[in-house]
Amino acid sequence: LEQVAKVDKSIPAAIIKELEDQRSYLKMIASENYCSLSTQLTLGNLLTDKYAEGFPNHRYYAGCDNIDNLEGQACKEACDLFGAEHAYVQPHSGADANMVAFWAILNKVVQKPYMDKVGETNLYNLTDEQWAELRATFGHQKLLGLNYYSGGHLTHGYRHNVSARMFDAYTYDVDPKTQVLDYDSIRKQAEEVKPTILLAGYSAYPRKVNFRIMREIADSVGAVFMVDMAHFAGLVAGKAFTGDFDPVKHADVVTTTTHKTLRGPRGGLILAKKEFGDFIDQGCPMVLGGPLPHCMAAKAIAFKEANTPEFQEYAQNIVKNSKSLAGYLSEGGVNLTSGGTDNHLMVLDVTNFGLTGRQAEDAVRAAGITLNRNSVPFDPNGAWYTSGLRIGTPALTTLGMGEAEMKEIAQVVIEILESTTANIIASGKNAGKKSLAKATTDEAVIASCRER
Ligand code: PLP
Repeated sequence: LEQVAKVDKSIPAAIIKELEDQRSYLKMIASENYCSLSTQLTLGNLLTDKYAEGFPNHRYYAGCDNIDNLEGQACKEACDLFGAEHAYVQPHSGADANMVAFWAILNKVVQKPYMDKVGETNLYNLTDEQWAELRATFGHQKLLGLNYYSGGHLTHGYRHNVSARMFDAYTYDVDPKTQVLDYDSIRKQAEEVKPTILLAGYSAYPRKVNFRIMREIADSVGAVFMVDMAHFAGLVAGKAFTGDFDPVKHADVVTTTTHKTLRGPRGGLILAKKEFGDFIDQGCPMVLGGPLPHCMAAKAIAFKEANTPEFQEYAQNIVKNSKSLAGYLSEGGVNLTSGGTDNHLMVLDVTNFGLTGRQAEDAVRAAGITLNRNSVPFDPNGAWYTSGLRIGTPALTTLGMGEAEMKEIAQVVIEILESTTANIIASGKNAGKKSLAKATTDEAVIASCRER
């Protein structure tokens, strides 16, 4: 950092402040973790200086031998770790991975058959009329994914996301009563919609998904089955999710981030059945520009770290801690959506404490715990204020915490929720919104919780 400070002092200061923050607050955001020092050191070096558009041994630039090797190594480590047929390690993030996967699937199921029909192999040989006809068919493909308000991700067809504009996007919900997925109802909806892609996976669903059943549903309507395992990739890598719950076994294409439960560098990854591989390798020029060689190298390190008995124990402990925390919260009177958890996260409905998710998030942060507000299924408070909190155990499990700490954290969260009151400011045309935005927590309770 001394070297960096010679250029600008504010950036090293921000890094140190962030270090202090991450060491002095309990990190309970379900999508965050602590990657290893080896991963961090691999991320910050001269590899960032190299352009390598294309894929291993097929580049648009000279001098890519070293990048070919490290990218090839990262792909191999990913296939070994997950038992996948094909891996693509270039996406810079989970959202990028989804975008590459969507277009690869469309190219396989829409573009390739069209090109075969007109007897061409190169898009540049299409007439203007053929090009227009092909482009028009892209706009009418259907995506069926989990609704944002039931725990799906923005990229799964949320109206404010490009995924809802490139597809005719349809969403399925959790059952309003049980708040868990109802496969019969998903099957019925899939039969009505007949999607091009059936998409499973989530950001805020606290239960396991049966990918064998989802695959059967996809097959029965002729859809490509895609899973976004961004949140639970570490649980798959660590063999906490196996058999029907292992998406790599059942899906055509699986996307993920590498920085959540998987505990690698911030980035994306795509795994696929062999027949999708050539289409996915066209991520550049299809969607991406140059890959980030330093990130691909760091992914190789993280995949290797995850392919160990220690990581398998870690994955089991994430779930153990999650179940234990959920148990203590429930016993203390907190409502959990779906009544509990099977994975690394849970969603607390805080409305019985008279609070919105936003108020609860602020109050808990004041006491030293960082987590995020989250919609509950069919949330009347919308996506900004929300009625819930999402809590995850991946980062604290990395720090070695267990049952005793989960018990104490549950007590602290409950104390804070009980000692926080919503302030009503009933004036002006935004009165309703303002009343949702404010809350006060007993200072003495905050101080005692921070102390603990
Ligand atoms: N997919 C899921 C299920 C996610 O939860 C997330 C991020 O939270 C993403 C995709 C997007 O990942 P990124 O933030 O790296 O773009």
